Formats: sequence, structure tokens, C-alpha cells
Amino acid sequence: MQSFQHYIGGVFEDATEHFDSINPATGAPWARMPEATVADVSRAVDAAERAFLSTEWASMTASARGRLLMRLADLIAEAAPRLAKLETRDTGKIIRETSAQIAYVAEYYRYYAGLADKIEGAHLPIDKPDMEVWLRREPVGVVAAVVPWNSQLFLSAVKIGPALAAGCTVVLKASEDGPAPMLEFARIFDQAGFPKGVLSVITGGSEVGAALTSHPKVAHVAFTGGPDTARHILRNSAENLASTSLELGGKSPFIVFDDAELESAVNAQVSGIFAATGQSCVAGSRLVVQAGIKDAFLARLKEKAEAVVIGAPDRMETEVGPLCTLRQRERAEQLVARSVEQGAKLITGGQAPDRDGYFFAPTILDCDTAPNAVCLSEEFFGPVLSVVSFRDEDEAIAIANDTQYGLASGLFTRDLTRAHRMIRAIRAGIVWVNTYRAVSPIAPFGGHGLSGHGREGGIAAALDYTTVKAVWLRTSDEPIPDPFVMR
Ligand code: NAD
Repeated sequence: MQSFQHYIGGVFEDATEHFDSINPATGAPWARMPEATVADVSRAVDAAERAFLSTEWASMTASARGRLLMRLADLIAEAAPRLAKLETRDTGKIIRETSAQIAYVAEYYRYYAGLADKIEGAHLPIDKPDMEVWLRREPVGVVAAVVPWNSQLFLSAVKIGPALAAGCTVVLKASEDGPAPMLEFARIFDQAGFPKGVLSVITGGSEVGAALTSHPKVAHVAFTGGPDTARHILRNSAENLASTSLELGGKSPFIVFDDAELESAVNAQVSGIFAATGQSCVAGSRLVVQAGIKDAFLARLKEKAEAVVIGAPDRMETEVGPLCTLRQRERAEQLVARSVEQGAKLITGGQAPDRDGYFFAPTILDCDTAPNAVCLSEEFFGPVLSVVSFRDEDEAIAIANDTQYGLASGLFTRDLTRAHRMIRAIRAGIVWVNTYRAVSPIAPFGGHGLSGHGREGGIAAALDYTTVKAVWLRTSDEPIPDPFVMR
């Protein structure tokens, strides 16, 4: 079996504890992963604090930080095929997706490399004639970054990129499921030439995550994961009142009006729910379709879902691979079974195909007969689409907003004025109109409600890693009068 090491304070280390990583396509262990201890967490945070305060990092110009990030981006682009293979092997995400996504991860680092020397302070037109007041944007300090297994290189880039651009240092905890790409990423990071300790990469489960996010030297916690874990994170960060950004789950509506370009909408819906085997926070998991086109739309979707090539994730022709963990597949099975008991009609799928690995067939549930079915409210993280129909715009909005989440949404219509009304009415951090799942380092990404708070991507994300220092400078040469002269 292949063995991986932690990266703590710029040094690759064997851990004292280990766990096996499972290949989801076979269900067999394939690699030995290091498991951090609480002491490892402390060493990583101490190293991050030392690096943060070091002259080498603290006095480095923002332009120089940007150049290091640019070098990192180039190294990632070079290593993308290797990283993609590793991610596919360790998480079961298909090679088509990991290849395309990791090549694009380099663009996120390029974006933040360019932004590093554009994070500006401000000068204030203060209401006192003998004062100059300006604001310095300073890095917030040591950042704890915690990511889930899906798209770890991507989800860490949107944290590490802006945090380092702002001048912070980072301890990243990779997921205990599929950590290989992050531990390999550490090797690439190491070649970029950052001072030691600027980034540490460790892995392990909830105990390691709790030790990191409650560490008194951590100033900001950047978390991606589920809402239940986010509640723990908030409690953990309350210890030292660290600021937080939380990118959580979703139950995103995909709304199709009867005037939509149907084949495009069908294709967008297929990739919106079955891409990444449905293990995507922005999965368009609730199809909200106008009643008049429901049957035709569902028939086309069923045809496509049944034609999907399910197979080994490392084959280029595979369109749907396994789920990342057995736990995840069991949850999908249970939630589908419960939804059917509650009255949802199974249109296709619903089972694990008869093969090794954690596969689950693309599944469509018609929920018009079960408006309270669990599949409409709970995030699945599996290739499961729930369908509800609507008669008019008001009903579409009511169904779309009938969720505690508020991450993404999709809207298909050719009516421009209606599109504008819907955009205003939908409660979500992202509205994709006549498209779905488009992302860019330039556009903020995030949600509200159970989908969390804060945004990743864009300029504002880098500001999350800064704090404002207001500087007051008295410009008068007059002596400061004795305040007690009137006594
Ligand atoms: P999870 O919440 O179980 O785990 C996420 C990370 O948190 C893991 O690294 C885990 O080890 C760590 N963790 C667990 N308990 C912890 C604790 N007490 N303290 C600190 N860290 C702890 O999530 P998951 O099941 O691995 O991932 C799926 C979830 O992630 C879904 O809800 C999905 O929607 C969400 N997600 C959101 C986005 C987004 O950008 N909004 C992107 C991808 C995934």
C-alpha cells in the first residue's frame, strides 16, 4: 500500500497513528494515511503562528506573496494529471471531472496571486482638521481551514489562495475520506518556495478538526462541510471568538418553465444532479418543473439517466462513478426508501447496481404525490433527483424557497421579464439563468440559512482574511492642552 505523510511546519513527517484509505470503486484499502494527534495540531498551529510573525513572511511585500502564489499555480497546473488520478482513486470522483476541475484550480491561485497587491486600505475624510486617518488592511492571523472529501483541492484553493494573498498563514485539515490529493498537494506547495510554516496540511477526523478549530491561536476558521459539523465549528470557535466562514450544504431548486429551451434544460439538469455522482453542494437536487411539460421533461430525463455510463472512475468514458464512502451509499439507499414509503414515485434507479464498490444508480423520484417526502428537504449527496411540478410563477417561487438551505438555484425560461422577477424572489446565494454549475474565481460563491455564511471566490473573500486597523495621526504642531486646566 502507498503511504502518505503529514506536512507540518514545512517538514514531511510520518505520523504516530494511521488509518487506511479505501478505494470507493472497489471497496478495498489502497493507502495508509497519517492521522494527526492533538499534539500534531498544536505543532502545526504553533508553526503557523511563528511563520505569521516571522520577518520573512510578515515583511514580505504583497507583490512577492503574489509571485509565490503564481509559482504555486504553475506547479499545480503541471501536476494536475497526477493530482487528478490520485483524487479519482481516493474519492471515486470520475477522472473526467477531476482532470477538468484541478486544471481550473490553478486559475483560482492565479486569481489570488494577482489580487495580493490589490488589497488596499483607505484614507478617510475625517471630520477633524488636524488629523489624518487611514485604514490599514492587515492579515487576520492563523487560519484553520477544514474541508470535506469532495473537491478538496478546489475547496482548499478558495481558502488558501485568499488567505495567503492577504498575508495569513494556514493549517489545513483534509477530510479523513480521500485525503490523498491534499497530502500530495502539500508536496507541490513545498516546491513553490513559501517560508516554512505558512501552510501545514494534516488529516484526521472530527477530533482533529475540533482540536484545530478550537485552538486559541486560530484567528479565523474557514469551513466547508455539513450544517451539523458547522454547529460544532461555531461552538469550537467560540472558545477564542475566532471569525468564521461557513460553506455548507444545499437543496437547490432547478426551475424549468414551459417556454424554456427544453433540451438545454434537460442536459443542464442531468449534469446538475448526476455530476460528481450528486456529491456536490450545488447539486440541482429539486427539479421544479411547470406542470404542462412535466411528463415530456421527465421522460427525457429518465432516458438520459438510464443511458448514463456507470463504471470505473479512472476510465475517461465513465459518466457516473461510485459514491465516496459506504456510509454515503447507505444514506442514499435509506433516504430513497423512506421517500418512497412517504409516497414518492420511483421513476428510475433507487438501488445500488450489482457490482463491487460504492455505486448507486442515477435516481429520479416524482414527489407530486408526496410533498413532504424527506428527499425534498434533506441533502442527499448522491445522484438522486426529486421532482415537483408547479402551475404558475408564484407557486414556483413558493416551492423553490421552501427549504432551510439557500445556496444555489437554476432557472430556465426564455421570458426575460419573468427571469428578472424570479431572480429577485429566489432566496439563494447563486442564481444560474439558462445555465447551471458555472463557477469562476472572479464570482463570489456561498449561501445563507443552513447553507452557511461568508463568500468564497472574488475580491470580498480575500477581505474576510483581513482586519482593519484605523490609524489616527495628529498633524498639528500645537502642544496638546492640559485636559485639567479648567479645574
Ligand atoms: P462533514 O461536515 O461531515 O465534514 C467536513 C469536515 O469537517 C471533515 O474534514 C471532517 O473531518 C470535519 N469535522 C467533522 N467533525 C468536526 C468537528 N467536530 N470539528 C471540526 N471539524 C470537524 O461533511 P462531509 O459529509 O464530509 O461533506 C459533505 C458536506 O459538505 C455536505 O453537506 C456538502 O453540501 C458540504 N459541501 C459544501 C460546499 C460549499 O461550498 N458550500 C462544497 C462541498 C461540500
